[in-house]
Amino acid sequence: MGVNDVVKNITWLGHDGFLIKGDGKAIVIDPFQVKRCELADIILVTHEHYDHCSPEDIQKIQKASTVIVTEVDSARKLSGDVRVVQPGDKLTVSGIPIEAVPAYNTNKNFHPKQNGWLGFVVTVDGVRIYHAGDTDLIPEMDSLKTDIAILPVSGTYVMTAEEAVEAAKTIKPKLAIPMHFGAIVGSTDDAWRFCDALAGTCEVVML
Ligand code: ZN
Ligand code: ZN
Repeated sequence: MGVNDVVKNITWLGHDGFLIKGDGKAIVIDPFQVKRCELADIILVTHEHYDHCSPEDIQKIQKASTVIVTEVDSARKLSGDVRVVQPGDKLTVSGIPIEAVPAYNTNKNFHPKQNGWLGFVVTVDGVRIYHAGDTDLIPEMDSLKTDIAILPVSGTYVMTAEEAVEAAKTIKPKLAIPMHFGAIVGSTDDAWRFCDALAGTCEVVML
């Protein structure tokens, strides 16, 4: 399947939460204040901040067979089949290839690099999807390979919309999606600035 088919199977759950359906699986990343979502086969949690690692949201979509992939700080707050990973780890869960990648701040201290907090690259229906987590523009993005890039745009704790534009130009995805707005920090105005600035560079979809 192509990028434009796969993006139709990505649902924004608000803030950094996404439901990705593909290869017969439901993959949920960072569910937070979720109003409606189906049960997940795989849940990915980027880091322990309450708006990313929400045990009550996770319990609502967790089945006995659900596999959670996360870092060590979040794992302490969660139960079930929890797999702890570090940046650079690669694993396959229920046939879905998952790569844990670094996510950290470079000009603020909310997400120190040494915490080993995460972004993820998941491959569904042959398309690579990068969920950046809470991060700034980091050197590791130079070598990141992805078809779709989901990037934070709110500023304050993560990249501003303008920094996220630079990140997208570094990563060179076929399609970019803004996130991390509309809940704790960040407005739809941030997301639109991101979309407008990338016009002509890559496809941009606001979910
Ligand atoms: Zn955070
Ligand atoms: Zn955040």
